Amino acid sequence: MQLNNNEIQDIEKRTDYTKILDEFGISQIDKELPRIGTEHHFFRRGIVFAHRDFDKILNRIEQNKDFAIISGRGPSSDLHFGHLILFELIRYLQEKYQCKFFMPLSDDEKYVFRKIDSLEGSYALSLENAIDIMALGFEPENVHVYISSITPRIQYLALTFSTSQTYNAIKAALGFNGEENAGTVFYTCIQAAHILHPTTDYNMPVVVPIGLDQDVYMRLTRDIARKRKITSPASLYIKYLKGLTGGPMSSSAPETCIYLRDNSKVIKKKIMNAFTGGRATIKEQRELGANPDICTVYDWFKKFFIKDDKELEEILNGCRNGDLICGLDCKPKLLEMVQNYLEEHKKRRNEVIKNLSKYFDHEIDLSILEEADST
Ligand code: SF4
Repeated sequence: MQLNNNEIQDIEKRTDYTKILDEFGISQIDKELPRIGTEHHFFRRGIVFAHRDFDKILNRIEQNKDFAIISGRGPSSDLHFGHLILFELIRYLQEKYQCKFFMPLSDDEKYVFRKIDSLEGSYALSLENAIDIMALGFEPENVHVYISSITPRIQYLALTFSTSQTYNAIKAALGFNGEENAGTVFYTCIQAAHILHPTTDYNMPVVVPIGLDQDVYMRLTRDIARKRKITSPASLYIKYLKGLTGGPMSSSAPETCIYLRDNSKVIKKKIMNAFTGGRATIKEQRELGANPDICTVYDWFKKFFIKDDKELEEILNGCRNGDLICGLDCKPKLLEMVQNYLEEHKKRRNEVIKNLSKYFDHEIDLSILEEADST
């Protein structure tokens, strides 16, 4: 079954929600929460909502056995807050379970899907994305970062995995019509290599935190793992942040997201124009209250910025009973939170840059960053 982005974002509103998960072989996370704990709001508030085989990873954790987290980043644009939710989850899990985190920078994916013009051209962006992600609080000794196209081991594994996958299976899974370039077909094997490499080379079963729209790659990789008798990768499914305009967030629609390098004027404009559940006038809102269920500002508070449940509840109540006004209270509050976050992030970035080569599995050319800075 293929779902489009809107359907995936609203999946929980569908009456056949559990049936869809069942069809994909995905379980709701609730049953595992007593083992995972709910100290983090991602688990407490259902932002991580489902899993496949994470119970097996929990078994390993309880037996003091190793596992790894793997999640890639396709370097075709600057990071935005929608990306950070995933990597904040990984940072939390990595620290909690003291496991390794593997992060392929999949320039090859962006190249074959024509999101970048050249592999060389995305090199600086790969390094920039890595800096932003590592600045969330990762330590070099716990991570393996690599640029996919220049990592021979990944290309070798992909080649060997390619004989365990048919073109017809890839075509059906990705909805290809035969007009796609050959690189997009082979990329499924590269993706499998990213996911299975910690297991084949380090004997660490993996968990892959993803959005439901990425699950098709998991299913293809699990097929390969089964045929090659490699431990199948587990997955955790997260809900995305809502786009500021009310629909899905997208890197190619700048008004839907806030990039980490947006300037303060742009950030203010985007937040003050964000779609909310507010009324047409302040008077009406004071009398009737507003609707947080459809509000993007509330969504950002709940999923990312406000970790204290009591504070969040006060906003929820204040919204519903008309005490809060979108443009006077919530939007300025979100703006301040975003600006504070970015200020702190900038400081952490500077620390990462000093040690950047220590995060990578291969040599990197730091002069590229200096060149990018001077242009
Ligand atoms: Fe959203 Fe706040 Fe407006 Fe309620 S008052 S709709 S939470 S911005």
